[in-house]
Amino acid sequence: MRLRWLAVAGVLVTLSGALLLGVRFRPGPALAVAAAITLYNGLFWLWLRRSGRAGGERRMAEWQVAVDIFALVLLLYFTGGIENPFSYYLVFHAAIAGVMLPGRRSWPVAALAFVLYGSMVVLDHLGVIPHFALDGPFRAAPYRDGRYLLASLFGTGVAFGISAYFTAAISRQLSRRARELAGANERLRRADRQRLESVIMVTHELRAPMAAVDSLLETVTGGYVHKSCDVCGALPMVERARARVRGLLKLTNDVLDLHKLELGEAELRRLPVALGPLAERVVEQYTELAAQAGVTVRLAAASAMPAALGDEQSIWFILSNLVANAVKYNRPGGSVAVSAVRSDRGGDGREQAMVDVRVTDTGVGIPAADLPMVFEIFYRGTYARPEAGSGLGLSLVKRLVEAQGGRVWVKSEQGAGSEFGFALPAAG
Ligand code: ADP
Repeated sequence: MRLRWLAVAGVLVTLSGALLLGVRFRPGPALAVAAAITLYNGLFWLWLRRSGRAGGERRMAEWQVAVDIFALVLLLYFTGGIENPFSYYLVFHAAIAGVMLPGRRSWPVAALAFVLYGSMVVLDHLGVIPHFALDGPFRAAPYRDGRYLLASLFGTGVAFGISAYFTAAISRQLSRRARELAGANERLRRADRQRLESVIMVTHELRAPMAAVDSLLETVTGGYVHKSCDVCGALPMVERARARVRGLLKLTNDVLDLHKLELGEAELRRLPVALGPLAERVVEQYTELAAQAGVTVRLAAASAMPAALGDEQSIWFILSNLVANAVKYNRPGGSVAVSAVRSDRGGDGREQAMVDVRVTDTGVGIPAADLPMVFEIFYRGTYARPEAGSGLGLSLVKRLVEAQGGRVWVKSEQGAGSEFGFALPAAG
């Protein structure tokens, strides 16, 4: 609105300048347009004051731009139409309006400006509307006329000045926004860090009493306390209580590891890890559980397994989780196979050699629709839900593998079994 007052002043200065320079035209209609602009600017000002800042502001901005374009076209029409040397002000005005309005409004603004201006010059050309001629020095050989030169330079100078003002203002605003965003981002990061740290602290505090409860219960189930416990029939309940506590302990450990990884606090070493012996230990750990479930676990040529570059404890965790799942989501009579092979991708030595570790099972498999979600945090398939489980294991596996420069994958078919694999950089 403030700019519009300036524009009215600009129109008055330009009209007087043109008259002084001896340009022959009828100033009456142009002055009437300037008066109309003053009037509607006053009305818009009143409207804004009445309705306050809330609501309707965008609608109003759109109306203002449309009315401005119409007024500018009228002004051009009454001062020579296509002969007016300042018609490019219209483009300039449409560009500024497009920047000020939100979204993609610049397109309708430009279209409106073109349609109005085009209609005016075509109707003027066809003689449908009377022509308001711009006589005087603008008629013949204007390039030789010093006054025309002066008028043109004045107009062009003002246009450059306004565009420089606007581009500087927009760029100032953009860099202020960028600074604000960077600040907000930093605050969010700090808040997120605090959140991660408090989760770590709480889970850490939870872990100690849970481990204590577990070992206390173990003294009961292990028969280290009075035998009468068994007599009173409490032992099966204590066994179940211990299984639940162990589940809770695993959950707490997973949450702790996940948050430490996210915080970048997890210490992952990068050393050669012989996968054969490690896989043997993992398989051994699950043999009994697998036997209880009627599942056989096979290990393919452990002695020939390559070495990977990574953190031994985390590779142990990854493989344990995959094998545990392959047993858990299996069926009696089913099997699990663990293999690890070196794969020299590309073969031209330019790419890092990797070790592909695969855990395949003949279990329940995963429906195709669920496959993209299996590595997501807290994902638990509804097709098979054994009692124990948190839905955190696979997301931790993925993060751990990726933190060591590797990748994970899953191939599965419902009812036909699954293959979970991960690739880590090969050692040597
Ligand atoms: P949890 O086993 O504790 O539920 P995971 O993150 O290890 O959590 O696994 C997430 C889900 O992925 C499981 O609940 C299960 O639905 C599915 N899943 C994982 N491994 C297998 C597998 N080998 N076969 C079939 N489904 C699996």
